[in-house]
Amino acid sequence: MIAGNWKMNLDLQGSIALATELNKHTDNFKCDVALFPPYIFITEVMKELGHSKIKVGAQNCSHSENGAYTGEVSASMLASVGVKYVLVGHSERREYHTEAFEVLRPKLQLALKYGLTPIFCCGEPTAVRNALMHKDFVREQLEECLTGFTHDEIKRIIIAYEPIWAIGTGVTASAQQAQEMHEYIRRHVGEMYTHEIAEKLHILYGGSCKPDNAKELFLCPDVDGGLIGGASLKADDFMAIIDAV
Ligand code: PGA
Repeated sequence: MIAGNWKMNLDLQGSIALATELNKHTDNFKCDVALFPPYIFITEVMKELGHSKIKVGAQNCSHSENGAYTGEVSASMLASVGVKYVLVGHSERREYHTEAFEVLRPKLQLALKYGLTPIFCCGEPTAVRNALMHKDFVREQLEECLTGFTHDEIKRIIIAYEPIWAIGTGVTASAQQAQEMHEYIRRHVGEMYTHEIAEKLHILYGGSCKPDNAKELFLCPDVDGGLIGGASLKADDFMAIIDAV
């Protein structure tokens, strides 16, 4: 799968133009492709895509089901407009909105309850990587948020490994670093659940994935696709990454 996280970029016209351009080339797509526009443009982008192979996701959802939560958007609202995926626990949400497992677990549960596929993001900051504690750090993120699901539920969750030092920095993880962590995540989920579940788990890589490094990353046996930020904002770059799959 290739997912394009537009973050807080593009206006309405730019969002429609990008979706229109990508929609012209779906015959060449050999993998699942999803776009993650800001909430406000989701329905317009979906209208533009029509019955496309490209699906639409949200960058976030509320940890509450409904009610007096000014400014929030619930998983059921997203489902009601046809959204298929939702990012949960992106490092920018964790950092700027202090999101931790107390809210991330309910987000995952609500996403699943309303039929969305959550993409659970994990990954370590620079200091943790430098201290060689990245595996412990990510293991804790997995254990805090991904325990206690039924087998049917955990099978529906996609994981994105996104080392924070690689996000938006132009410094990507090497294929070897990505493979090491993806293998570790798969093995650990296998220990938490079953090895059959872990084998089928989709683990995306995110962090400065670009057309020139995508192929090398996707060749890693445990890298099942990418969560793309900056390079998803340019149709040519995003399509080159889709081609790399
Ligand atoms: P980037 O962002 O590709 O711009 O590094 C990835 C992400 O944050 O999902």
